[in-house]
Amino acid sequence: MDSQHPAQLPVLTFDLFDSTQVIHSVSTRRGGASTGPFSSLNLGIKVGDHQPAVYENRARFLASLGLTLPSTVALTQVHGTRVVEAARADGGRGMLPTVPPPEAADALITGVPGLGLLVLAADCVPLLFWDPEHRAVAAAHAGWRGSVAGMARHTVAAMGERYGSRPAQLRAAVGPAIGGCCYEVDGPVLAPLLRDQGRFFDRVTTATAQPDRRMLDLKALNRMQLEAAGLRADHIEVSPLCTACNADLLYSERRLGRPCGRFGAVIAIRDTAR
Ligand SMILES: [Zn+2]
Repeated sequence: MDSQHPAQLPVLTFDLFDSTQVIHSVSTRRGGASTGPFSSLNLGIKVGDHQPAVYENRARFLASLGLTLPSTVALTQVHGTRVVEAARADGGRGMLPTVPPPEAADALITGVPGLGLLVLAADCVPLLFWDPEHRAVAAAHAGWRGSVAGMARHTVAAMGERYGSRPAQLRAAVGPAIGGCCYEVDGPVLAPLLRDQGRFFDRVTTATAQPDRRMLDLKALNRMQLEAAGLRADHIEVSPLCTACNADLLYSERRLGRPCGRFGAVIAIRDTAR
């Protein structure tokens, strides 16, 4: 993962996405118009920030990638595992105060070139997918609930059903999220984790001084689910960045408290016809 400076906006990128085929990046807190706790590139519209600043921030981030608000789609993220397909006509949904409103779901898939898919996070795991064989992409949001419920697997399955994507050909990036260094959880998280992802439990959690609390590595949990879904280990790139350890660079609700801004992860099939 590298830091780059297209159009003077600091963003994070992954090496495994071929930039001649796909557009993608993860935004940081830097280069935006928001102030106070939202300083400065907050992309979240529902966190209490000044709305014109959020739209300005979204437009700046997308412009640095050659995308626009009307050419991008976002969701009302609800910590579920529903996957929805974005069509050309969905451009602008969740990005602009337009009708119809965004879908309540946590993953977007598309085969439309030039259509950006955006997910927002502030400790939760953003996931980006690319199928070079069928020219399809996906963006998903997986907090602990989505990770425990298998958001990554559901996204791989949806791409397979809709586009014929083969897991062995898919590339997936696990974005910056709260790390195992900082994410202490207790029973309400550990019980469903043990019940639904028990085979990974010992590899994604570590003990703390308190027997009823453990440290949870959400990024590792998503990597293991992707490998279990059939992705090659060398087709998965995991950001080393912990949001809480890097709260000056990325929004971390655990570290910064509420209100808290949101950074974004976006991906689009590069429109090579233009
Ligand atoms: Zn950390």
